[in-house]
Amino acid sequence: MGRIAEEYGTLVFNDHTMQELLPSATYKALSRTIKEGKPLDEDVANVVAHAMKEWAVANGATHYTHWFQPLSGITSEKHDSFIDPQPDGRAIMKFSGKALIQGEPDASSFPSGGIRATFEARGYTAWDPTSYAFIKDEVLCIPTAFCSYTGEALDKKTPLLRSMEAVSKEAVKVLALFGIDVPRVTTTVGAEQEYFLIREADYEQRQDLILTGRTLFGAPPCKGQEMEEHYFGAIRPTVNEFMKELDEELWKLGVPAKTKHNEVAPCQHELAPMFSISNAAIDHNLLTMELMRTLASHHGLVCLQHEKPFEGINGSGKHNNWSIATDDENLLDPGSTPAQNLRFLVFLAAVVQAVDDYQDLLRISVASAGNDHRLGANEAPPAVISIFLGDELGRVVDAIIAGKEDAGGAKALMDLGVDVLPSFERDNTDRNRTSPFAFTGNKFEFRMPGSQVNLADANTILNTIVAKSLKDFTEAVEGADDFEKAAYDWVRETLTDHQRIIFNGDGYADEWLEEAERRGLLNLPSLVDAAPHMLDPKNIALFEEFGVLNEAENHARYEVKLDTYSKLINIEGQTMAHMAKRKIVPAVSAYADQVARTINDKRTANPELEPTADLRLLKRLNDGANAMYDAIDALDAALAKAQDIEDTLDRARSYHDDVLGAMEGLRAITDDMEGIVSTEAWPLPTYNKILFYC
Ligand code: ADP
Ligand code: MG
Repeated sequence: MGRIAEEYGTLVFNDHTMQELLPSATYKALSRTIKEGKPLDEDVANVVAHAMKEWAVANGATHYTHWFQPLSGITSEKHDSFIDPQPDGRAIMKFSGKALIQGEPDASSFPSGGIRATFEARGYTAWDPTSYAFIKDEVLCIPTAFCSYTGEALDKKTPLLRSMEAVSKEAVKVLALFGIDVPRVTTTVGAEQEYFLIREADYEQRQDLILTGRTLFGAPPCKGQEMEEHYFGAIRPTVNEFMKELDEELWKLGVPAKTKHNEVAPCQHELAPMFSISNAAIDHNLLTMELMRTLASHHGLVCLQHEKPFEGINGSGKHNNWSIATDDENLLDPGSTPAQNLRFLVFLAAVVQAVDDYQDLLRISVASAGNDHRLGANEAPPAVISIFLGDELGRVVDAIIAGKEDAGGAKALMDLGVDVLPSFERDNTDRNRTSPFAFTGNKFEFRMPGSQVNLADANTILNTIVAKSLKDFTEAVEGADDFEKAAYDWVRETLTDHQRIIFNGDGYADEWLEEAERRGLLNLPSLVDAAPHMLDPKNIALFEEFGVLNEAENHARYEVKLDTYSKLINIEGQTMAHMAKRKIVPAVSAYADQVARTINDKRTANPELEPTADLRLLKRLNDGANAMYDAIDALDAALAKAQDIEDTLDRARSYHDDVLGAMEGLRAITDDMEGIVSTEAWPLPTYNKILFYC
């Protein structure tokens, strides 16, 4: 075995380790919990905890933590040592089943969207045994869900797990109708992560990057991405070293990092893992993002994960590849036998219906202050949701809708399936990069998520809305005399009713937005446009029906979403005003002063001289500084106005309409000034410098 194979997963308490270290009865009980979601009893938990601790200590761990994902989306951890002091003054290392299963962090400092006010301040973390524990920086990390005292979810993982249950339950029923008996169905995710790497030395000089993750000022560089040379280009040696270290550390943690390459924008890169079961894939994505940030400093680099670090340069997304599978089969694989094709068409139609009926929820799941800069900006999908099926599958769907099978009912469909589907090859789908939701051979690729987002929200929605469609299917065909005909009729009706959501053309074209409007598709350009739909009765009812979020939990998420948005824009606005007042205006004035002195010096040296260029420059600098000051005042006023608004939605709207507008005004003048102030006098590293380094 090579070194990598030997090291892969060494820091993970995975199935292999469990089999090796757990007594067989304990292993069996734990496996049942993992595979079938059976509750774990405390005796078993004690044995598991002990084995886990022995293993962790042998691998250098001194502490453990319940690793969870509060509503801020990032991961949280509080480290407790295994140390248990003894009466004789020594200490032993101890870890109980209770400490493994449940923790009690103080919930009061995490966002709760008002749930705490109505219920209780205490929060509980509960072990998610379906996601393996791992060791990070000498700490045994136990992936957990985070709930309030009364069981309301205060995190991203709990609803995700509930949605996985929901879709599994409905899919199992559908499969039973097809004569397939399986205990569960799982959803899978492959998250392609985009990011930027810039030099630490540049980063340190930019307060905007430090405080907000993006540049709030910056004139366009002389060279952008127009040469199309970065995508898949040779990787810089420093970046390569970073990528190698990242891969190795991820592999030790059992994260199946697979593909790495340069992306379209200068300094932009991507990492894609092999897909895995949704909750583990999301844990892995969060770990990947964390390691990217921490390991970059070993190489004098900083990893930017903001959706839009540089204006005018492509931003970063995170494609969410999604599928649904039994232990043996991918249910979105078109397959080659007719019976399977009908089943495939049912799952396909279910997704089509789900995406059409819940466009708003999908849009909301990816809405963030950062992603607002990306969606609809011709580098990322538009803010309108549609599905791309590609030519071949599109033809199949068109034929079904057109009723080409009329003569023979389901039988004709089978013929159609035989004719068309076997030629349908995995990579045959046209590489349409402009679609927000594309079928790519045997999975859907949801391309709207931003690079920073926790994918739990998007997958919670996807799983829940597909559960809804599958339930609809089961109800429609149950008890039918001719199951195949009933199933086929449902497929045709569903595809017919929801064909407006299918669009195989160019999602960047302006005509598409007009066409989408004619089709009645939602266009929600910003977070503040999208968020109110969280409270639509149909959406509240959906979450309640599948036990994914109760009304209070849903409302809490709405509050947190808007509040987080307002806070982020507030920080951006304040950072901008601060930098402008304390750094940029003084620099412009100092430079103007230098020019003024040059003018005087020249005149003193030779009164006949006409320093026209200097005079023009001085006037532009002076006018610019004045205009900057007006723009700063306008921004301060907009901030003060927004800060004073009580209502969460009105406040977020004001940040969107007033503050962002004022920020744009200040930026335009400042970027203009950057273009005329000398390189030495400009107080910030420019795009030219940051984006093109060796
Ligand atoms: P591209 O860049 O062309 O979109 P990549 O090969 O970089 O494609 O990424 C595809 C991603 O999709 C990978 O993470 C891969 O593991 C994932 N993937 C493949 N099959 C499935 C599936 N059945 N379910 C979920 N994700 C999948
Ligand atoms: Mg992709």
